[in-house]
Amino acid sequence: MASDDLGTITALLILGGTAEAVELAGACAARPGLEVISSLAGRTRTPGLPPGEVRIGGFGGAGGLARFLVEREIGRVIDATHPFAAQIGAHAEQACREARVPRLRLLRPPWTREPGDNWIEVADLVEAAQRLPELGCRVFLTVGHQDLGAFAGLDLWFLVRTIEPPGVLPLRHGQWLAGRGPFAVENELALLRAHGIDVLVTKASGGAATYAKLAAARQLGLPVVMVRRPPPPPGPVVDSVNAALTWLERVA
Ligand code: NAP
Repeated sequence: MASDDLGTITALLILGGTAEAVELAGACAARPGLEVISSLAGRTRTPGLPPGEVRIGGFGGAGGLARFLVEREIGRVIDATHPFAAQIGAHAEQACREARVPRLRLLRPPWTREPGDNWIEVADLVEAAQRLPELGCRVFLTVGHQDLGAFAGLDLWFLVRTIEPPGVLPLRHGQWLAGRGPFAVENELALLRAHGIDVLVTKASGGAATYAKLAAARQLGLPVVMVRRPPPPPGPVVDSVNAALTWLERVA
């Protein structure tokens, strides 16, 4: 279980589903005496798989996660999930507190505004949908496939880009486009122009892989509806894989 000495740690659990989690698992895999278990929710059919042991599927709430920590003798948890994965983060906080396992939140840095950006920050997807009709009528919607329902009632045209197909598009007008980052600015510019897009919607996910759409929107002078991040649960937070590796070595 938990220890001051990395050499005696039984196991590290990485809560994943992000590029950072894969990178972290890769960096940890080479460390002697550290057993790395990565956990994925199982939302994507072809996820980027980290090296080492991978388990897929929910734990069954905070209680299930706490039992997993004890059964697998987990000594450290790094929550490297997406900035909008609030539920698993809260469960990890509760489970680690109960099982007395040190936990770290690895949270990628948010995007920052550049001169020329026209970002309209909103609290959630519902507010994003409320603001859209005043901002445009042809929308580039780059939220997850599970987030589309918030826009179902709008009489606007949507270009929807998600990794997973949404099945029947739950929108009145629009089309779906498969896409997994990284994206290039030239391609994003061409896409926005080709579809006559006049407003973009995104979650404030951060990360380089999906930033190009924001640079393209800036170049075309388009407004961007930016859904704010939920606050992370209490506890230590770092914003890079290197900082997470430092925490692993230092945490008591
Ligand atoms: P969420 O709302 O925070 O979690 C919902 C439930 O999914 C959790 O209670 C848990 O089920 C299970 N779960 C989530 N992440 C898990 C993980 N890494 N390992 C095992 N179980 C997990 O999560 P979400 O927003 O649906 O995101 C699901 C996954 O997709 C996350 O791993 C996240 O990193 C990734 N992702 C999310 C987004 C996004 O925009 N939300 C974007 C890209 C990637 P139990 O309660 O049964 O344990």
